[in-house]
Amino acid sequence: MSTERIKAALPDATDTKDIVIGPGVLGLADEVFGRSFGDQPAVVVADENTFKVAGQDVHHRLQTGGRTLVDPYIFPGQPTLRSEYGNATKLVASLRTHEAIPVAVASGTLNDIVKRAAYECDRPYLAVATAASVDGYTSFGASITKDGFKQTLTCPAPRAVVADLDVLAAAPPIMTASGYGDLLGKVPAGADWIVADELQVDPIDPHVWSLVQGPLREATARPAELQAGDRSTMEALVEGLMMSGLAMQVAGSSRPASGAEHYFSHLWELEGLAHGVEGGPPPEHGLKVGFASIAMAAFYERLLERDLSTVDIEARRRLWPSWEQVEQKVRATHHTPGLDRAAIAQSREKYIDADQLAQRLTLLRERWPVLRERIQQQLLTADQLREQLGAAGCPTSPAELGLSLADLKATYIRARMIRSRYTVLDLAYETGVLPECVEELFAPGGFWA
Ligand SMILES: [Zn+2]
Repeated sequence: MSTERIKAALPDATDTKDIVIGPGVLGLADEVFGRSFGDQPAVVVADENTFKVAGQDVHHRLQTGGRTLVDPYIFPGQPTLRSEYGNATKLVASLRTHEAIPVAVASGTLNDIVKRAAYECDRPYLAVATAASVDGYTSFGASITKDGFKQTLTCPAPRAVVADLDVLAAAPPIMTASGYGDLLGKVPAGADWIVADELQVDPIDPHVWSLVQGPLREATARPAELQAGDRSTMEALVEGLMMSGLAMQVAGSSRPASGAEHYFSHLWELEGLAHGVEGGPPPEHGLKVGFASIAMAAFYERLLERDLSTVDIEARRRLWPSWEQVEQKVRATHHTPGLDRAAIAQSREKYIDADQLAQRLTLLRERWPVLRERIQQQLLTADQLREQLGAAGCPTSPAELGLSLADLKATYIRARMIRSRYTVLDLAYETGVLPECVEELFAPGGFWA
C-alpha cells in the first residue's frame, strides 16, 4: 500500500526501507513492524494526545499480533511537547531499561525526539505518523533545542513509516496546513538550487531533483480540498512530504528540500520571532516556511527585474570585503547565544575572496539569460503562493505569525549568514543588489508595503 513513486524511491534511500500510506493502514502496524524487525519486542512512544488518537490502537494491534511489548512511554499532552533535548534524554533513560524497538506514534516534534533517542540507544525505529505536518518523517536528523540553541542533531530516518490517511485527516487542520507550507517551500528551494547549479556551486542531481520536484505541483495543486479532508488530496500531500524526506536520504543533504525560505524560518525559531498571536501556540515549522516562501518569491521578483549580465565585475571586486570585515559584520548582526558562533562558522565556509568573486560573476554574466529563464519556469509568483497558502489555511501576513515588518525586513539581510548553503540571497549579495531589492519590497507600492 505505497505509491509507485515511493516504491521506486525506496531502494536508494539509506535508512527507510518501508513506507505504507493509505486509509486504515494503522491496521497493518504489526505486519509492517514484523517485516522490519522480525519478532523483536516493541514499545509504543506517544504523548497523551497521540496515544488517544492512534497510540493505544497501535499498542493493541501489536499485542494481538502476539508480540512482546513493553509498557508504552507516554509524554504529557499539556503543555504542548517541545523539541527540547531534555525530552530525548528522558526517553533514552527509559529505552535503556529494555531492548524494545520504539514505535513513535507522533507528529513532527515527538517524532524528532524519538528519532534522536533511538539513535542514542543504537536502535532503529518505526514511525507512525499522526499529522501530515512536516517532511521530517522520512528525513535524517532531528530538529532539537540543545544548549539553548535549536540545531539539527545527527540521527538516521526511521526504518519504516506508517501513514494512515484517516488518522492524518482527523489531525488539527493547522497541522495539515503546516505540511502544505513545508511542501510548497520546495518551490523557492528548487529555484535556489537552480541558482547554485548554474553558478557551479552545487550541481543539481537530476534523480534527486525529480524525487522532490516531480510530485510537487500535483501535491500542492488543491489546497482547499485538503482543508475539506479530501483523502486523495491528503494522499498526494503525504506522498510529496515523504518523497522530500527520501530525497534528502538519497542526497545525504537537505539541499533538495530546503533553501533560503528555511533559513528565514530557522532564524525566527532561534530568536523567538514569529511566535504567533498573543496567547496562541507557537506556529508550526511549515507555517513559517510557507510564509517565508511568499517572502522569497517576492524577492525573486525584484531580482529578476534586473539585468545581471551587465554586472560591473571590477567595481564589485574593488568593494568586496575581506573575511575579517565579513566576520565583524556577522558578529554585529547576530547576538543570539549559539547562533552567533554558528553564523560565523557558516559564513566562513562560504566566503570567497575577490578573485573567486570575479570568476563567479564572469560566469554569471554569461549564464544569466539561461538562469533567469530556469528560475521563471520553476517559481510561482508571490501572489500565487499567497493565494494557495491562504486556501490551505496557512498564515500569509507577518502579523498572523507575530512578526513585525521591521523583523521581516531585517531577515532578508540576516538569514544569509546563518547557513553556508548558497541561495539567491548570496547571488544578490555578490552582485551588490541585495539592499536595494529589499528596500523595494518595503517601499510604498512594494510587496510588503
Ligand atoms: Zn521543512
